[in-house]
Amino acid sequence: MGDEAEGEAEEYLFKVVIIGDSAVGKSNLLSRYARNEFNLHSKATIGVEFQTQSMDIDGKEVKAQIWDTAGQERFRAVTSAYYRGAFGALLVYDISRRSTFDNVGRWLQELNTHSDTTVAKMLVGNKCDLDNIREVPVEEGKALAEAEGLFFMETSALDATNVKTAFEIVIKEIYSNVSRKIL
Ligand code: GDP
Repeated sequence: MGDEAEGEAEEYLFKVVIIGDSAVGKSNLLSRYARNEFNLHSKATIGVEFQTQSMDIDGKEVKAQIWDTAGQERFRAVTSAYYRGAFGALLVYDISRRSTFDNVGRWLQELNTHSDTTVAKMLVGNKCDLDNIREVPVEEGKALAEAEGLFFMETSALDATNVKTAFEIVIKEIYSNVSRKIL
């Protein structure tokens, strides 16, 4: 723009939602990314709805406000307010529980119904540390992501594999979607 006050950097703030069946690891992905913490017996934390994380893209501070369902999905009660204004989404399943992969289509449909803008979406196969009891082959995850036009990554919130990368790919894609429209 050129007319910014001195010292005032350009800033962006985007909402990102994490969706998927109960116990696939949504809260732990968020706590691993935002606080580098993992909890073996985690319970949905009432009252904590989102965490804000910043990253630097092209010298600009890009903040993501990342929302966790806080257990709402157990009661099939993820509300439209949860999705409202989201520019990015992580659709999570558990590679050791096929039913959670089978439900991805339903989550995707719900996301598409409620979103009113271009949403950067990543399919996330979490718990890849549980390879010995895997029920969903990597190829199936990749194939679904390709068919639906989603990014894809297997992650482990437990050992931190790909967690940061997954969130950052989504945030970068949002930034690129938004800047393409503005410029
Ligand atoms: P949410 O209901 O989707 O938010 O799932 P949680 O984050 O509460 O995790 C559900 C359970 O899965 C908890 O017992 C976690 O410790 C466990 N969990 C989460 N992520 C991983 C992971 O990457 N690997 C393994 N082995 N367990 C995980």
